[in-house]
Amino acid sequence: MEYNVKSMKAEEFIHDGEIKDTVRYAEEHKHDTALIDQILEKARLRKGLSHREASVLLACDIPEKVEEIYDLAEQIKKDFYGNRIVLFAPLYLSNYCVNGCLYCPYHLKNKHIPRKKLTQEEVAREVIALQDMGHKRLAIEAGEDPVNNPIEYILDCIKTIYSIKHKNGAIRRVNVNIAATTVENYRKLRDAGIGTYILFQETYNKENYEYLHPTGPKHDYNYHTEAMDRAMEGGIDDVGIGVLFGLDNYQYEFAGLLMHAEHLEAVHGVGPHTISVPRVKRADDIDPTDFDNSLSDEMFCKIAACIRIAVPYTGMIISTRETAEVREKIIRLGVSQISGGSRTSVGGYCEKERPHDTEQFDVSDNRTLDQVVNWLMRAGYIPSFCTACYREGRTGDRFMALCKSGQIQNCCHPNALMTLKEFLMDYATEDTRRIGEAMIESEIGNIPKEKVRQIVRERLVKIAEGDRDFRF
Ligand code: SAM
Repeated sequence: MEYNVKSMKAEEFIHDGEIKDTVRYAEEHKHDTALIDQILEKARLRKGLSHREASVLLACDIPEKVEEIYDLAEQIKKDFYGNRIVLFAPLYLSNYCVNGCLYCPYHLKNKHIPRKKLTQEEVAREVIALQDMGHKRLAIEAGEDPVNNPIEYILDCIKTIYSIKHKNGAIRRVNVNIAATTVENYRKLRDAGIGTYILFQETYNKENYEYLHPTGPKHDYNYHTEAMDRAMEGGIDDVGIGVLFGLDNYQYEFAGLLMHAEHLEAVHGVGPHTISVPRVKRADDIDPTDFDNSLSDEMFCKIAACIRIAVPYTGMIISTRETAEVREKIIRLGVSQISGGSRTSVGGYCEKERPHDTEQFDVSDNRTLDQVVNWLMRAGYIPSFCTACYREGRTGDRFMALCKSGQIQNCCHPNALMTLKEFLMDYATEDTRRIGEAMIESEIGNIPKEKVRQIVRERLVKIAEGDRDFRF
């Protein structure tokens, strides 16, 4: 079997031999300053790097070069995403699961956690609670269980979520994180109007993957790894990939992740919309130290910086699995989306106290959404609740083309300010509102086109008067 980026077979586009060669090559060249300078020079063109080039940067430990990597990642992040951070929340629909994933508390053999599946009334209550926090964008999550969580159940939930209009609230984009499925089911999800389809690879190492997923449909490495190709065949333009860092060694995962991105770009003409970088966390009967591939916060941040440089047009997501300190550092280096005020338990948003019995993992950042918004603004970021792109048909290659030309800035910046204004009017505490109003006022000046600036000013007045959902 040979490495072939365009192959539709998992083991050919995620080729074990190519990954091992890449890791070896990176290790051998990690002090080769001439090569590193050459790679950094290429990276400065902002057109991305190959998995091999990026792996050399990741391996490099020459302090001045590492500084250069961080500075470049920060600069690329500023160029493509400005100072905006998009906010979302996960919504756990069901923890019924037939798989045996060794790192996840929802595994079938765990008999002492209560199993719960939201009814449509409960979904509605959760959505109202999320809207009352100020959320506009959700990622729905469910275990894999063809009997309890069939695709029809997921589709019903999506319909319910989009239908709830409570006060000024609305969920305008539903991203979906459910198990690998068929082309036909992906088509149904597309028709239901989802945003991004997200599926984490967990680990790209096939042998370890099979060990970590001993039972259930998820055991099938090829079916799981080829899922994004089926999703795209089913008409889903925006897909989100990721690995669960800590399960295997990070060098292997990093090369695999970029090879997956290269494969999607080569075959479908469009790379992943987002890359997530979760790390294994403690949960019910899960001890992360059982997987001895944990990585330091420092290396974790370096991975994010190298991803930013390697795929400048791909959004990067960090969840509340990470502490506020790590999130602050990593946001600067390239993350464009974060979750806030999250509950990782089924039905968690309706509970006064954070429930732990059905939690998928321990949350490290326990702040409310208002506190996260406040913190972002104090650190100089514009919290954005924008959902405009896919609603305006800017998905897949159309999104990428706009992104590459820099045109996307003309939409994203004003949309961020207008959705922030909605949040300030409807959900913010007094202190957050005060900081936010000042931020909007100063950021309007950064809209390049006078005409757009004027429209934004008019719309901000209308939002203050009660109108909602303006977008470019
Ligand atoms: N069940 C679906 C699947 O199999 O892909 C997706 C939903 S699952 C609720 C979302 C993700 O949570 C998983 O893909 C996994 O990466 C992550 N996860 C599971 N256990 C975790 C843990 N102990 N710590 C951190 N993340 C975990």
